[in-house]
Amino acid sequence: MFDKNLFAGKLAGVVPYKVDTNTYRVRLDANESFFALPNQLRLELENSLLDFNFNRYPDPDAVELVNAFCSFFGVSEKCVAAGNGSDEIISILMNCFIDFGSSVMTFTPDFSMYAFYAGLAGAKVIECPKNKDLQIDFDAAIKQIKQNNVKLCIFSNPCNPTGKIEKKSDIKALASLCPDTIFVSDEAYMDFSPQDESFLKDTEKYSNIIVLKTLSKAIGCAALRLGFVVADESFIKMFKAVKSPYNVNGVSQKFGQIVLSHTELLTDCTNDIIRSVNQLSQMLNVQDTSNLFTFEKTYTNFLFMKSQKAKAVWEYLKSNGILVRYFDIDGGALRITAGSMDENTQLCSYISRFGG
Ligand code: PMP
Repeated sequence: MFDKNLFAGKLAGVVPYKVDTNTYRVRLDANESFFALPNQLRLELENSLLDFNFNRYPDPDAVELVNAFCSFFGVSEKCVAAGNGSDEIISILMNCFIDFGSSVMTFTPDFSMYAFYAGLAGAKVIECPKNKDLQIDFDAAIKQIKQNNVKLCIFSNPCNPTGKIEKKSDIKALASLCPDTIFVSDEAYMDFSPQDESFLKDTEKYSNIIVLKTLSKAIGCAALRLGFVVADESFIKMFKAVKSPYNVNGVSQKFGQIVLSHTELLTDCTNDIIRSVNQLSQMLNVQDTSNLFTFEKTYTNFLFMKSQKAKAVWEYLKSNGILVRYFDIDGGALRITAGSMDENTQLCSYISRFGG
């Protein structure tokens, strides 16, 4: 048994990210894509391994993968680096910018891993509450940044878990008013938004804005653990210096590169996911005659629904083999990832039978 005083003091408040590893008939809890890769593409991936050099270290810069990402998203290669999921990238960003005691600002509610990695880096975490519409309160943000000398401010746009989107013009204004703060716009879900508020193609114009992308959502490759950081070249050089040399494994580099070359398939899948989330929203709205839920407009592959009975619905679904996410926000809320037609129908059918 390790004496807990031996662990680094900065770990005192660490709460591990909880993943429910039980088996469920329907999983709509992790904002994954519901598409299985088509057989033809699987064959292509398999064949790519026939002459794969398992005995060699992978390319430290994942050049071919980065090139494929850049062709797909239309960005310049010198502005991009790859990571072992955006999770790893968030942690590297902290290493790049945070000295012990530096302030990192997050908004609440938002993706919990921002505060987690900031804490691990020994940062002081400032949480700036969102307004009553669950949008960023930009006046409060400026105040907090100035008062606390915030070094890095990180947020998801569109937001996980609320699904809301922030305007690019608002973020641009914030970043120009606070030139000594780094702003990280995590755009994991932007591919699903009909409104484009992305900085992806503009990072060369800004010296304090960084964008994160992942292949875990619209691209449907969560298992490969591939994330990307997009920023001015001067930062990408530092990022590469700080990351571990072989951070992205060779098989994921190869598979990611091949998957990204299937532009048409990926665009079709994203459109189908958008159709699914709209369909699910409609189905749930129609059947919610007793106004159990308040539906929030989302710009993501998931729905966000508030309800005083959210926890009871979550438990009821779970006991019937369906997993969604519960959040203790505004009296209770559910985040439900859009699934296949069959999964959506099963979910709706159980919710319609919820006795309360
Ligand atoms: N950012 C956001 C906003 C997310 O919701 C997630 C995954 N839930 C991630 C990053 C992590 O992505 P990855 O799978 O690339 O680590």
